[in-house]
Amino acid sequence: MPIWYAEIPEPTAAYTRYEMTEQLIRQIENLKAERSAVILAHNYQPGEIQDLADFTGDSLGLSIEASKTDADVIVFCGVRFMAETAAILSPEKTVLLPEKTAGCPMADMITADQLRQLKQENPDALVVCYVNSTAEVKAESDYCCTSANAVEVVNSLPEDRRIIFVPDRHLGRFVAERTGRELVLWPGYCATHVVITVDDINAARAKYPDAIVMTHPECTEPVKELSDELLSTGQMLKFAARSTAKRFIIATEIGIIHALKKENPEAEFFPASDRAICPNMKKISMDKVISSLENMQYEITIAETIRLKAKKALDRMVEILPEK
Ligand code: SF4
Repeated sequence: MPIWYAEIPEPTAAYTRYEMTEQLIRQIENLKAERSAVILAHNYQPGEIQDLADFTGDSLGLSIEASKTDADVIVFCGVRFMAETAAILSPEKTVLLPEKTAGCPMADMITADQLRQLKQENPDALVVCYVNSTAEVKAESDYCCTSANAVEVVNSLPEDRRIIFVPDRHLGRFVAERTGRELVLWPGYCATHVVITVDDINAARAKYPDAIVMTHPECTEPVKELSDELLSTGQMLKFAARSTAKRFIIATEIGIIHALKKENPEAEFFPASDRAICPNMKKISMDKVISSLENMQYEITIAETIRLKAKKALDRMVEILPEK
């Protein structure tokens, strides 16, 4: 059974699976209209959640998109830090996370207290935090960045300033290498990306020798060294659309393959590892989206003092890099 159907009840004699899915989609559409809601789905979400969303993409792109709509409610199909980012950018809207335990282990690998301690140890440093961080950590940071623009954000900072980069050490090393800057790194990592191994890449290359290997910077350094392109999920989608290649090996969470196939039906995409599944991303189901809209759960709220400070870090990033 495909993982994204796990939450849908088994078809009965009276209804086929297709009819049941259609029923759920209709129910979601009705609730969306009733609540004046917009549904966002991250690129790592189960395929059927991506299909029913109003917007799909990376976490920051989605939050920016949602802040521009006149919807009253944002249902964020993703993990907690993503819904928090939407709440930081859209304080006038109600932001819902359909599954309250959908967190990001990497974001939770550094607390605001730990970052404050790191700042004390490096009093002259500027802090750049990956968007995969809690609102409290963003509030303690000078700049935010995404995997797509981390290199540009760091490159834009004064050369005489030390830079603390949190929480992902693998993205941090990639940024240090591309910018030539010495960064103070935090030992965080994404448990989903680090399961992709050198053996996985070698085996996939042996099987599909003509394929281009696209790898996310959250992967380990040896895996990145074996890859053809190091790209964020948004950049993977753009690269595949422009490329004349017809086969790609994808070294990131496998959910992105749904969007890649949908946008490039003539090309083939193979996961570098079938194990690269983020269990938190897969906690969202159609049933949970329905409960979320019916019961207005689980609302994500951020204390205003934290929100304003966190927004500054996001705004500074956008100032450096006007939205593309
Ligand atoms: S894929 Fe990794 S970084 Fe993304 S939400 Fe899951 S654990 Fe966090």
